[in-house]
Amino acid sequence: MDSVDIADLAWPVYDDRVKKGAVVLIPVGALEQHGPHMSMNPDVLLPTAIARKVAQNIGGLVAPAIAYGYKSQQKSGGGNHMPGTTSLDGWTLTCVVRDVLRELARHGVRRTVMVNGHFENSAFLAEGIDLALRDLGSHNIKDFRCIVLSYWDFIDQKTIDTIYQGTFPGWAVEHGGVLETSLMLHLYPNLVNMDLVIDHPPATFPPYDFFPIKPEWTPSSGCLSSAKSAAATHGKLIFSVCVEGISGALRTAFD
Ligand code: ZN
Ligand code: MN
Repeated sequence: MDSVDIADLAWPVYDDRVKKGAVVLIPVGALEQHGPHMSMNPDVLLPTAIARKVAQNIGGLVAPAIAYGYKSQQKSGGGNHMPGTTSLDGWTLTCVVRDVLRELARHGVRRTVMVNGHFENSAFLAEGIDLALRDLGSHNIKDFRCIVLSYWDFIDQKTIDTIYQGTFPGWAVEHGGVLETSLMLHLYPNLVNMDLVIDHPPATFPPYDFFPIKPEWTPSSGCLSSAKSAAATHGKLIFSVCVEGISGALRTAFD
């Protein structure tokens, strides 16, 4: 029973680890289309894989991922109109985050990390954390801590230069592009088919959102940039940069 996944542990083992102060990481993702060349679960699988490796590094534990996320936005995820994309209302995600954190706190967990893999989740994670802190404060639990991060924010300029060779389109249009596809090729190659990558320039949008959305703004692939130059070697580099960066940040932040 040396798994870092809390769901794999018997409760006395989990209880013991919590009493010894283990940090608990909670991956948060989405069920969202990622183009014709890839499965719909990268936003869950990638932060989970990163969280597991970080947990091994810092002696932490990983909670089951929150596998649904906030609605895909057209300019960052292709849009919520796409087949397969299955999303939560903002308040639902907020309440799931609040409930999970409150339960972990009830077990005695005091240091938590939300490892986000879906751009659109961020504000609702912040809201769920804030409500959880308010709940816990009224139960006189004042030492509960939560870090929230999105894994791509740990990718430095040097890594970006190495991978994109001056063609980096920005994280917002990286949906189904080189970043996620490379990581998937490294970690879950059976869920990617590079023969089906559609090569097109990065999507461009006006500086506003329009509702209801105009489906023609989204490239027909559902990707916002091309994954053509994705490679498992890039994925391996990105994975190690994220794991090292996050592990170091947590050691510093929780010290
Ligand atoms: Zn994604
Ligand atoms: Mn996403």
